[in-house]
Amino acid sequence: MKRRKTGQFRRGRVGVNRVLFVLSSAIAICYSGASFTRVPAEMSPIEPLIQNNRAWSERMTSHAPDYFRRLAEQQSPKYLWIGCADSRVPANEVVGLMPGELFVHRNVANLVYPSDPNCLSVVAYAIAVLKVEHIIVCGHYGCGGVKAAISNESFGVIDNWLLKIKEVLSRYHKHLDTIADMEQRVDRLCELNVVEQVKTLSQTMIIQDAWHRDQPLALHGWIYGLKDGLIKDLGIRVERLEQVPPR
Ligand SMILES: [Zn+2]
Repeated sequence: MKRRKTGQFRRGRVGVNRVLFVLSSAIAICYSGASFTRVPAEMSPIEPLIQNNRAWSERMTSHAPDYFRRLAEQQSPKYLWIGCADSRVPANEVVGLMPGELFVHRNVANLVYPSDPNCLSVVAYAIAVLKVEHIIVCGHYGCGGVKAAISNESFGVIDNWLLKIKEVLSRYHKHLDTIADMEQRVDRLCELNVVEQVKTLSQTMIIQDAWHRDQPLALHGWIYGLKDGLIKDLGIRVERLEQVPPR
C-alpha cells in the first residue's frame, strides 16, 4: 500500500466523510461554544435587570393595557436631547418625559462635532422625520469628560474625543484662570462647553437648512446639577438664521 504524506487528505468517499466530519465537528464546537454562554437565568449577574424590566412593563400596562402597542406604532417627540453619557443624568427622567416623548443622543461630555456622523445622523433624523421643535444640549456640572480635558493627563483614545473641550478651554482660558477654585473652574467650563456645542450645532447645514425651509426649530443650552438634580437654563436660544453666531 502506498503511504500517504502526513496531513494529506484521503481521496474518495472516505476523504469526503472525513471533511464532513471535520466540518460538522467545527459546527458542533461553535454551537456548543454558543450554548456555553447560555447561563441559567438565576446565575446571570444581569438577571435582576430582566426582572426589573418585567416589573416595569407590568406597571406601564396596568393602567393602559395597550400602552406598548400604541407606542410601537408611532413616536412623535417634540424634543431632541443631546447630553452626556454620564449614568447620573438619565435624560427622560430628569425632565419628566415618558418613552416616545424625548429623542436622545448621548456621548461623553455632550459634544457636537460637525464631522461626527453618529450625532449628525440623529439630528438629521430628528429634524427631517420626527420634526422635533427643540434641540436641547444639556451638560452637567462635575462632568468627567470636562475634568479630563482640563487636566494635563492622558487618557488614551478619549483624548482625541475631548479635543473640542480643550479648544473651549483655550478660547476662554483668561476668564477661566480668574476662577481660583478648581471645582468652580471645571463647572464654568462645563457651562461654556454647552454654549460652544449649541453654537456649533447652529452652524451645521442640517440645522440651517431647516431654518431656510421655515421649519420651527429652536436650540437651547442647559446644564444639570448632579448635587441637586436641577436644570439651569443657560439662556442661549437660537431659532433663526440671523441669530447664528459667527464662526
Ligand atoms: Zn459628563
